[in-house]
Amino acid sequence: MSELTVIQGSKSTLVRVEAGLLSGIGTLIRRLLVRDSGSSCAVVSDRTVARLFGQLVRRSLAEAELAAHFFEIEPGEASKSLGAAAKVYDFLAAAGVGRDGVVMALGGGVVGDLAGFAAGTWMRGIPLVICPTTMEADVDASIGGKTAVNTAAGKNLVGVFHPPVLVAIDPNCLATLAARDVRAGLAESVKHAVVFSPEFLAWHETRLDEVVRLEPAALSELIERNIRIKSDVVSRDPEERSGERMLLNFGHTIGHAIEARAEFSLRHGECVGLGMVAACRLSQRLGLLDAAVVDRVTDLLARVGLPTRLEHAIPADRIIETIGSDKKRRGGKVRYVLLEGIGRPVIRDDVAPTVVREVYESLLA
Ligand code: NAD
Repeated sequence: MSELTVIQGSKSTLVRVEAGLLSGIGTLIRRLLVRDSGSSCAVVSDRTVARLFGQLVRRSLAEAELAAHFFEIEPGEASKSLGAAAKVYDFLAAAGVGRDGVVMALGGGVVGDLAGFAAGTWMRGIPLVICPTTMEADVDASIGGKTAVNTAAGKNLVGVFHPPVLVAIDPNCLATLAARDVRAGLAESVKHAVVFSPEFLAWHETRLDEVVRLEPAALSELIERNIRIKSDVVSRDPEERSGERMLLNFGHTIGHAIEARAEFSLRHGECVGLGMVAACRLSQRLGLLDAAVVDRVTDLLARVGLPTRLEHAIPADRIIETIGSDKKRRGGKVRYVLLEGIGRPVIRDDVAPTVVREVYESLLA
């Protein structure tokens, strides 16, 4: 078991990683958050996750004498919508969840972002607990307090910062996750290593097979190292103001555009992987990065099992247009997180769209 407290401005989050933790989640919530028996815990999950872990959580909340209410969304990115958020509000109202209640996000990044957004806006913000069940959420999405829904204009354009009070990570949950989702989630771990830690990148190169087989020791170490990297960054720049937190967007500018234009038929992590290949090639094209580093990152992503070429023939014009509406734009300019080496990120806002187009087209299979 390991524990870490993430300080984000005036808020703090306890992150606990422990195999089997989900079966004791009720007691933990009761001890940390809710003193009165009969208090409400509103669990938001998706249909797949609820089928797998709903009973376990229900039993644990009942043992802790919490009044549990469950709400299921359809699995998938399409559920990160304002319409779905409205349904969560209706559920919270019907369940009588007030400011003394708690919202629990039980699921992957989609559930975390949607339930977090609802918790952050319901009655101007009520406590949030995240119980992540995907690799993506274990190594990235559950930390840092970003919540969001998508709109027609783009991904994650509507949201609030609402750090959870508790993140309870039970690595055993990953045992049922599809191999594709295990691999997609690992893209964010590679991102953390590439941007912040040459040593962690080398760790991936030696321990990857153990991680993919979900061997407990390697898996726990992977999750804990990612949490430490991300929490360091978000505690220094809680609301993405100083620029440091923006470094976490490495691979996301082109990645998000691909994700939105592929109409969410690709996993988020797969698009981030493609976006990282593109960001490395952009860096090389601008004379910042050696070809050997581009190859090293691309080879690792391929070993993880992520696509390094894009099968969907999305026209470059659509990608450039979508990038133009990205949140990472400032003063009318698109800001790219690029690399001068492993662990040496740099933000540039002077990348010509023609160069982006050329690099994007190099991804097309
Ligand atoms: P997801 O939540 O859609 O989960 C992927 C699939 O796995 C779903 O079909 C789900 O039903 C299924 N699933 C979940 N847990 C399972 C389990 N234990 N066993 C079997 N199946 C399971 O996707 P994701 O990859 O977890 O998250 C992607 C989302 O996270 C994106 O919307 C992305 O924008 C967001 N994200 C947010 C942040 C943040 O800081 N808030 C960071 C990274 C990503």
